[in-house]
Amino acid sequence: MKILTRKDFELQDHSDVLATFRDEFDLPAGQIYLDGNSLGALPKKSKQRAREVVEKQWGEDLIQSWNKHHWVDMPTVLGDKLAGLIGAQEGEVLVCDSTSVNIYKLAAAALKMRAGRKKILSEPGNFPTDLYMLQGLVEFSSPEIELNVVSREDLERQIDEDTAVVVLTHVHYRTSEAFNMVDLTRKAHQYGALIIWDLSHSAGALPVDLTRAKVDMAVGCGYKYLNGGPGAPAFLYVARRHHLDLKTPLSGWFGHVLPFNFEDQYKPAENIKRMLCGTPSVLAGALLEVGIDIMCSVDMNLVRQKSIELTGLFIQLIEQRCRDFEVISPRNTDCRGSHVSIRHEQGYAIIQALIERNITGDFRAPDTLRFGFTPLYTRYVDVWDTVDALVEIMEKDAWNCEKFKKESTVT
Ligand SMILES: *Cc1c(COP(=O)(O)O)cnc(C)c1O
Repeated sequence: MKILTRKDFELQDHSDVLATFRDEFDLPAGQIYLDGNSLGALPKKSKQRAREVVEKQWGEDLIQSWNKHHWVDMPTVLGDKLAGLIGAQEGEVLVCDSTSVNIYKLAAAALKMRAGRKKILSEPGNFPTDLYMLQGLVEFSSPEIELNVVSREDLERQIDEDTAVVVLTHVHYRTSEAFNMVDLTRKAHQYGALIIWDLSHSAGALPVDLTRAKVDMAVGCGYKYLNGGPGAPAFLYVARRHHLDLKTPLSGWFGHVLPFNFEDQYKPAENIKRMLCGTPSVLAGALLEVGIDIMCSVDMNLVRQKSIELTGLFIQLIEQRCRDFEVISPRNTDCRGSHVSIRHEQGYAIIQALIERNITGDFRAPDTLRFGFTPLYTRYVDVWDTVDALVEIMEKDAWNCEKFKKESTVT
């Protein structure tokens, strides 16, 4: 394979059709930010939007804003915009709550829709909150309901007539390995089971087509590749064919058919809005809208193409120049998401040494270094410079000092 130089990466940046999008984001000078898969960067327009919503809408129009500025419609307005990014139809997506809460609501609804079936299926090593929420749901369900956590290789074989719902994350948070959504969804349906896909590492990272894959339900995160800001609202998707069968375990007033009739008796909305619970988080939603608008303005196929190149080049350089690390993400581009993980037992200290050099990746215990390549604001030279820094850190043992070994709460 050709030995690459920094010059090759500069040339790629020159011909990059997405290069101008970097200017939409407010990144600190000199920072190489490879953590957009964990907290997306700040869109410049978000600052202006925050001021407008706080000062003008909240400050001046006060409670009128629920109507005047359509705050009340935020979950569906944002959901409809997001639908275009994930291959959903209008009226099938809501922006609301957190991913964790949405998993709970949808998994509970799925159990009800498949009453009589006992199994919820997921995989070990799934993102912890997904498993925790399912464990909590089992605790609150009838005693025969159980959560079966089976390895990826066995998953297909374990789907049967007793399976109510399969809950999986499309792109794995640690390894970046992507499931074949179409095949697994078909498999679940063969046995009459429902499937819920967690798109937290997919939405805004790669093209997703929920309609084509005939997916039943999905959830995902607003603060990663959608650049919604810390704690941004999440989203949920339910295929229209299921809407009238949906029951929510969190039957709050925003899911009521007429919330402002203030009736004693809960009566669900006749559309996806029945999956809402309480008052939407307006300030956070307004910022998420800025991020969604940016993603909607770009061709996801171009994003995917650049993502494949950035992640592929990173893997290639690590293997050529940095043999200390084991690459744990797939080589096969078809089943690789937009981040790459490498393994080293000193991973935590190495990440801290990188952060000191203004290069941000993250660490996932016990030994994983994770690098997100968000095509809209990551340059090709960033890939080169990151591997260059890793080479230097390893050659000089620069990670090996006390200050890099003290773990913070958030890694
Ligand atoms: C980030 C992430 C979440 C986050 O859930 P929150 O409720 O927002 O904390 C859930 N699932 C997956 C797969 C994730 O990557």
